[in-house]
Amino acid sequence: MPKKLFIETLGCQMNVRDSEHMIAELNAKEPYELTTDSTEADLIIINTCSVRERPVHKLFSELGLFNKKKKEGAKIGVAGCTASHLGKDIIKRAPYVNFVLGARNVSKIAEVVEKDKSVEIDINYDESDFAFKDFRSSPYKAFINISIGCDKSCTFCIVPKTRGDEISIPAELIVNEVKKSVANGAKEVFLLGQNVNNYGRRFSGEHDKVNFTELLRMVSKVDGLERVRFTSPHPLHMDDEFIEEFATNDKICKSMHVPLQSGSTEILKEMKRGYTQEWFLNRIEKLRAMSPEVSISTDIIVGFPGESDADFEESMKVAKAVKFEQMFSFKYSPRPHTEAAEYTNVIDSEVASERLLRLQTFQDGVVDEVMRVQVGKTHEVYFELLRSDGFISGRSDNNFLVKVEGSEELLGEIRKVRITDAARMSLTGELLA
Ligand code: SF4
Repeated sequence: MPKKLFIETLGCQMNVRDSEHMIAELNAKEPYELTTDSTEADLIIINTCSVRERPVHKLFSELGLFNKKKKEGAKIGVAGCTASHLGKDIIKRAPYVNFVLGARNVSKIAEVVEKDKSVEIDINYDESDFAFKDFRSSPYKAFINISIGCDKSCTFCIVPKTRGDEISIPAELIVNEVKKSVANGAKEVFLLGQNVNNYGRRFSGEHDKVNFTELLRMVSKVDGLERVRFTSPHPLHMDDEFIEEFATNDKICKSMHVPLQSGSTEILKEMKRGYTQEWFLNRIEKLRAMSPEVSISTDIIVGFPGESDADFEESMKVAKAVKFEQMFSFKYSPRPHTEAAEYTNVIDSEVASERLLRLQTFQDGVVDEVMRVQVGKTHEVYFELLRSDGFISGRSDNNFLVKVEGSEELLGEIRKVRITDAARMSLTGELLA
């Protein structure tokens, strides 16, 4: 009987892809059957996120629950970014944990499962040209890593400490993975990296120097591929060639996540983001001009140390100028091993909450208007999810979530839909012939 594997993935798409890699490597060693019930699992893995404090707290309460309810002899492992920065302290705090595997050591999963109390968290370990076995959680869309780690040093961010330096994955490995995904039925690929448009600056070993725009062209040439998405580009590297390729390449989906973090040039300096408000607005203006139908999403932090009322007004100013189709906004959360965690000009939590509420209230109004004007428009939707309410849903080219009445024969299809109704998070439509 195959062993049962329960894997919980927290955080970003890179963690989703890392979990798929772990499942593939484990299955290559011996057969595992995935289960969503941890009490029947032989192996329980939590793939963690460290971007804010809350997920870390949640980890230990969850580990306690898993341990209490697990089956006799089952193993528990902690992977991902929290594993990278807490390492053996996880086993100290939760002695029933069998192994700890860092976000940069995914290829070692089968090894650590065999060796009790093993801790593999070396953030300099290079698996950028490791050819992982195949596993996909969706037959329709393929997440594909194009780089590991990050070379930036944003003062609020723990990622360089948990995922290590940035190394690009060789273009031929990426194109092969795209070809395999298309051969297995995927019409869409999602290219992943901390800073995708910084691709090609460093490989481990001799590889053709390819930048991100050239990589997009190479990937787009794969027969049978219809859609290319990517996340996240860094505003600093949004050069004209990149924006022009984005706008003119029909296979590239017209949605882009461009993390702003703050609208204040002073705070951007404190964050070591490397660009100014002016540069950001200039890039967005060019993007909107060249690609009018583009959906732009962003990340904004409020309450960063030293953020004055005037600084916050600059974030509001950019939000009003750009009118992002989507925004992820958070109160600053000090992260261990980051420069900003040492900053003393901390913002009062209530002040930060008020700022967050103001920003989110404004943004809700923008989103409601963005969604309202979709009614009557036609979008091409890639159907990926059969729902239990007689509807089926998917994403438009510019990333709106759209549902129509329909059943499984639409799964994996890209079809034209006229939008008939709008809610804050999703659109409803009817299929056109
Ligand atoms: S670019 Fe900055 S925010 Fe993004 S992962 Fe790297 S250090 Fe973190």
